[in-house]
Amino acid sequence: MISYFPEIYEDELVYSWFARYFAHSGYPCYVNALEDIFIKRNCAADIEFIGPINQEAKRIIESICTMDKLIFEHTMFPQYARFLDLDRQKIATESLIGGGGDPYNLLSIPTSSSTRVVRYCPLCAQEDREKYGETYFHRSHLIRGIMTCTKHKCKLRNTKVEISKCRSPRLHVPEDVIPTTTFCDDDISASEAQQRFDEYLMQCFYLEFRFLQSESVGMFISSKLDGTRYLSSGGRKKHVALLYEDILKFFGDNVPQGIQELYHLQKILTGYNTNFLWVCQLAYFLDISPQDLCTPETWDDSIAKSKWSKPLPKARNYSTRTGKTKENWITIDKEMAPLVKKIAKDIYEGGGGRPRRVTQNIVEKTMKWPNKRIDCLPLCKKIILEYYESFEDYWARECVWAYNFLKTERGQKIIVWKDLRELINLRKENFQKCIPYLIKHTDHKTIQELEGLING
Ligand SMILES: [Zn+2]
Repeated sequence: MISYFPEIYEDELVYSWFARYFAHSGYPCYVNALEDIFIKRNCAADIEFIGPINQEAKRIIESICTMDKLIFEHTMFPQYARFLDLDRQKIATESLIGGGGDPYNLLSIPTSSSTRVVRYCPLCAQEDREKYGETYFHRSHLIRGIMTCTKHKCKLRNTKVEISKCRSPRLHVPEDVIPTTTFCDDDISASEAQQRFDEYLMQCFYLEFRFLQSESVGMFISSKLDGTRYLSSGGRKKHVALLYEDILKFFGDNVPQGIQELYHLQKILTGYNTNFLWVCQLAYFLDISPQDLCTPETWDDSIAKSKWSKPLPKARNYSTRTGKTKENWITIDKEMAPLVKKIAKDIYEGGGGRPRRVTQNIVEKTMKWPNKRIDCLPLCKKIILEYYESFEDYWARECVWAYNFLKTERGQKIIVWKDLRELINLRKENFQKCIPYLIKHTDHKTIQELEGLING
C-alpha cells in the first residue's frame, strides 16, 4: 500500500520518480514498489513513458500531478509525438492520458541497433544533491541526438541503465546509479557546433506542444527548399541526393542515430516518417527556426507560397463517401485529375531520389485519401493506369537508376552488387528476372556492366 509518495522534480522522468518512491519506501526489494504502482507485480517500469499503473496508484499520483501534465512534462512523449499526423497525435494523447494505451503502438518510436542508456550531467547531479539531498534522471539528458547539458555546456555521461523496448522490470534509483564524481576537463570537450545543435534540439523538445494542422512536417520542410540549390529553378524537382550529401558533410559523425541513409531523408520529405531527430537535423540544416518548425499553424502560409508544390486542396472534405451524388464525384474527379497527374509523375520519377512504382494505393496515401477512393474517380484512375508497369519492368528501371546514381551522384568508380542491393534492396533472383527489361531503360554497355555485377 502506498502511504507516501515523494514530490516530482522539475523535468524529472516518471521512471525516476517511481524509483525514488522505492528508495524512500524502505522496501527491501524493488518488486514491492512495483507491486504498489503497477497493475501486475511483473510489470516493467518504462524509462521513457509511464507503464500500466493500477487504480490506487493512479489516484495518488493524480493528487500530486495530473496525467496530462505527467505525459507532457515528465515523459519523452513530445519527442515521439510532435510531428506525427494529427489523427495519430490525438489518439496517442487520449489513450496515454486515459492510461490504456501502449506508447510503442501509438507513437512512432525508432528502433536503434545500438544500445541507448540513461545519461546524466555531473553538474546537474551536483546541484540536485545540494538542493534536494538527492539527484534524479532529467528528461533533457535523454533527448535523442543530444550530447551535452545545455545548461552547463558539458558533455553528458552514460549510466549503465539501458533504455530498450524490452523494458527491464528493475527500478534503478538515480542516487545509486549516478556517481558523485566531480566535474573534470573531459566534460567540456564538446564543440561549439555540437552545442548549438543541442540547443536547437532542446528548444524543439520543450516548445509548447501543438497539434498538427492539415499538412505534414515533410510538406513544410519541402516548402523551405525554395531558393536553395536543392530545388530546381522551376520548382519541379527536388535534388534530394545533393541535400543528403551536404547534410552528411555538415553533421559529420556527430549525431548518433541521426540521418545516415538517403532514404531517411526521402521519408521525411514525403511525410512517411516523422523521426524527431531527423526532422530537427533537416530543419536545422535548412535554417528553420525552432519556433517555425514547432508552430504548425503557420506552415500553410509557407507551403502556399512555395514554388515546389501547390498544397492539396483543403477544407473541402473529400475523405468520406457519404452523401456524394454522381455529379459530385464527376466534379471532384475533374478537379483532382491535374493534381493526381503531377503526383503520379513525381512518384514515378522519384524527385531526385529512388523512383517508385505508381499504384493506386501510393497515390491515395500521398493525397491523404482513404483506400479505394480512386475507384470513384475514373479520370484519376486512368492517369494511374497509364503508369502501369510489371514488377520486373519496375526493377529494371530501378536498377538502372541505382547504377547511374552510384556512378554519377556518388562518383563511385567501382560498383559491386552489394552497393546496388543496399540502395534498392533488390534480391538476386529478382535481378535475374528483370534482365530482359533492362533494354527499355538503358544501353547495351550499361546492361553488360549490370550483368557483370551479379556474375562478379
Ligand atoms: Zn547540467
